[in-house]
Amino acid sequence: MKKYKIGILGATGIVGQNYINLLQNHPWFQIVDVAASPRSADKTYKEAVKPKWQMPLSIPKNVKNLMVRDVQDFEKIPKDLSFVFSALNMPTKEQIKELEVKYAKRGIPVISNNSAHRWTPDVPMIIGEINHEHVNVIPIQQKNMGFTQGFIVVKPNCSLQSYLTPIYALEQAGYKVDKLIITTLQGVSGAGYPGVPSLDIIDNIVPYINGEEEKTEKEPLKILGKVGKNGIENDDSIAISATCTRVPVSDGHTASVNVKFKDAVPSKEEIIKIWNSFKSVPQELDLPFAPKQPIIYLENTDRPQPKKDRDNDKGMAVTVGRLREDNVFDFKFVSLSHNTVRGAAGGSILSAELLVAKGFIN
Ligand code: NAP
Repeated sequence: MKKYKIGILGATGIVGQNYINLLQNHPWFQIVDVAASPRSADKTYKEAVKPKWQMPLSIPKNVKNLMVRDVQDFEKIPKDLSFVFSALNMPTKEQIKELEVKYAKRGIPVISNNSAHRWTPDVPMIIGEINHEHVNVIPIQQKNMGFTQGFIVVKPNCSLQSYLTPIYALEQAGYKVDKLIITTLQGVSGAGYPGVPSLDIIDNIVPYINGEEEKTEKEPLKILGKVGKNGIENDDSIAISATCTRVPVSDGHTASVNVKFKDAVPSKEEIIKIWNSFKSVPQELDLPFAPKQPIIYLENTDRPQPKKDRDNDKGMAVTVGRLREDNVFDFKFVSLSHNTVRGAAGGSILSAELLVAKGFIN
């Protein structure tokens, strides 16, 4: 198979580093362009990232000597770039929106981690196993925005897949969900680099993450929606109440979830069977980053734990446990996924693979 030449915007940040780490031996994608702020521009990647490299392996040979490009320097974009991953943090969402549109206008598809475009109705917000068919909104977006080959696709918030994938699997099996109460315990890498000051988080829990509860309550409605005439039409049939907290864990976002069903209530055994056997299009297409078993249920009473379970299936699987009856709702459970892998770089690599497989990236 041909190798697609790709770029990473925000290559020096935490998510950017995860792309570089995860794409080392990718069978389809080859990193040829790394871009970041003017602070990093015109340095080799190694020089620019050196003080903040957080990955377990050293910087791959094919990337360490690439010159970092200023993300605003369009003249230096390699001519044969197939698409870019965007992992930028900029002072305002408007700046990110504008920049991503500029790349798409130049014919370069953008697969973004940022929340700037999540509420643009004709921009799909993809979790490969759930709403793969939302890629079909891309021609509508291209028409609305006057893009020729370019387009924008986004990833949802980094904790979402841990609870939404198990909920979606139950809905797919015919058990409609009515209400969810979700409490997240989110790792510090979710705040980027350098992130939360150590004195704020060591020996502590911070019961607030700016904007996170709104994302947890709203984004599932778009993901569970359907492609309409002008974009994604939300499905607001599930009521969600969320509390999001920051905890002293390096990687891994955990969620405690209480669920109430609309009509029929499955048994505990049925739920576990549905989760363990759940598969979707990324698995059917055998995409390189698709976890073999997207939801892994652990019977041990003290799991999932971030340290022990976040790396399941190379960090791409959602691990669930502690399913039990709830005195107020029907059931409650605990779920976990790796925020910078499944919730960011890895999840969007899977989206890129889906876009290649469906013919949107050439
Ligand atoms: P980060 O560690 O703060 O990295 C930010 C990146 O953006 C760096 O490459 C930085 O370049 C670049 N940047 C900052 N200001 C810029 C500017 N004015 N112009 C151009 N580039 C600029 O952030 P992160 O955690 O990797 O997150 C990146 C994006 O992914 C964010 O939108 C975040 O919300 C989202 N996200 C993060 C996670 C996670 O778990 N961390 C999960 C899902 C989504 P320099 O090094 O040159 O400053």
